[in-house]
Amino acid sequence: MLVGIDLGTTNSLIACFRNGEPELIPNRLGSFLTPSVVSVDENGTLLVGETAKEYGMLHPLNTAKVFKRSMGTEKKYSIGDMQMSAVELSSIILRSLKEDAEHYLQCPVEDAIISVPAYFNEFQRKATKEAGEAAGLNVVRIINEPTAAAIAYGMGEDDKDERCLVFDLGGGTFDVSILEYYKNIIEVHAIAGNNFLGGEDFTAALASLFLQKAAIAPESLDVRTMNRVMKAAEICKCRYSTENSPTLSVTIDGALVELQIPLAEYEKACEDLLDQLRKPIERSLRDANVRLDEIDRLVLVGGATRLPIIRSFVVKTFRRIPSLVDPDTAVAVGVALQCGIKMRDEEIKEVVLTDVCPFTLGTRVSMDNGYFDEGDHYLPIIERNTVIPVSRTETLYTAHDGQTRVNVEILQGESRVASNNMQLAELSIPVPPGPKGKESLDITYTYDINSLLEVIVKVNSTGVTRKIIVQSASDKLSEEEAEARMERLAYLKQSPRDEEPNKLALLRGERVYEETTGWDREAVNRAIMQFERVLAKQDRREIERARDELNKFLDRIEMNILE
Ligand code: AMP
Repeated sequence: MLVGIDLGTTNSLIACFRNGEPELIPNRLGSFLTPSVVSVDENGTLLVGETAKEYGMLHPLNTAKVFKRSMGTEKKYSIGDMQMSAVELSSIILRSLKEDAEHYLQCPVEDAIISVPAYFNEFQRKATKEAGEAAGLNVVRIINEPTAAAIAYGMGEDDKDERCLVFDLGGGTFDVSILEYYKNIIEVHAIAGNNFLGGEDFTAALASLFLQKAAIAPESLDVRTMNRVMKAAEICKCRYSTENSPTLSVTIDGALVELQIPLAEYEKACEDLLDQLRKPIERSLRDANVRLDEIDRLVLVGGATRLPIIRSFVVKTFRRIPSLVDPDTAVAVGVALQCGIKMRDEEIKEVVLTDVCPFTLGTRVSMDNGYFDEGDHYLPIIERNTVIPVSRTETLYTAHDGQTRVNVEILQGESRVASNNMQLAELSIPVPPGPKGKESLDITYTYDINSLLEVIVKVNSTGVTRKIIVQSASDKLSEEEAEARMERLAYLKQSPRDEEPNKLALLRGERVYEETTGWDREAVNRAIMQFERVLAKQDRREIERARDELNKFLDRIEMNILE
């Protein structure tokens, strides 16, 4: 079975294409959204999703989140006494989603299409594939999130030529894309984004404003208290959808601190963040060579676009009302539609998708600027935002007299200084010695729809060629490698899926216990003990009823703490 996965910074979703339509798959807790959070508890049990998020409230040091930001880097996250990379953490999320899908669909899930932010570079895309493979999935395609979102928004459905701008503000990333639908083809014309800007920054801005107004120095708070402040800020932020001046309240050092924060005041505190949103919008319009008034449709994606501050920013900036689908699920629905296209299901109209290369690919050259040889110059071969698949050739010449080899560095990036860009690979080729500039070499870069870059270097006088493929099929983890990765994590046992809702309720109870005092705390204690007694009886129906009761009770207590 082929599934589509939106591996998000904050939440991840899994979906498939069945009976001619996209279908979101609920996780073991019955929700479509699985928080992209991983924890290891004191018994070495692996917790994933909502349970990990809840555990993380009390045990932040044993919990990893927002790791998508470090995809493709060496960064390690400490969870208890373990060190895990973003790839490993993502593979745990993917494994959990795969299990949920297998349970729901009652069949093995082997193939997957995974979406990534459009500006993910080669390493980040490769890392995402690796995470999928380590989770036992064959990643048949990586697609750009905005492309998926545009499909979900029905771009192309009524066969009308149009230009669309996708504004995707998730928990931790911001992505702007300009797409064009023309004669049954969706083309991505430009993408721009900021990997370090998202809804969480708007939560952090609200938390800082609250602490500043309450005259509390953030440094004086321990990690747990800060977590509580952030959680209360997150809840308050979401209330702006329905209230103009919600109250942010949180218990700090046993005392309840409560403040009303009017929307206008919050908006003012977000000015810097809003300013940062402008840059990628301007860049994408410039790169696509279109004016604002040439955009026919504006689509909002990502949970943070629910914030009224963002809505009014969008209306002011684009001078139009955006179309809205559920911003949390749009990408997953689009990936599922992509699965439909892939499976050639007759129910869906064939739409040929054309993507763009999200960054410039080039090489290092030596340039004579009239005074001296500048050896660290970057020669772009495929410019960013070129529609792919694409193949481009540049001719280079030997730089020194008597040169016997040419070293070709394959670089990615936008800086004119070669060493500021990222090296993807390198290859070396022999040339017949002769005076500088005598020998010519053709360098051909071919970038395909799966972000696979092939580089061929040919010495024109001798016909000698060298070829290298960056992020090729051969880069896929071998079965043994994938197994070895799985094994490294295998000793971490995941709690049985039917017990997960109980575990979550107990963890939530423990957290609420810590957050309360006096009578409330005693009542929480009694409720937990009561639930534990029911658990011991092992009667499934009774457990479900008691769990519902406990959750409802905790809802009431939490409303009081946070109100
Ligand atoms: P995503 O990465 O798309 O799941 O988006 C998650 C972000 O959306 C988080 O920062 C949430 O705080 C934010 N979010 C979700 N619902 C709302 C809402 N009603 N108002 C404001 N922000 C929201």
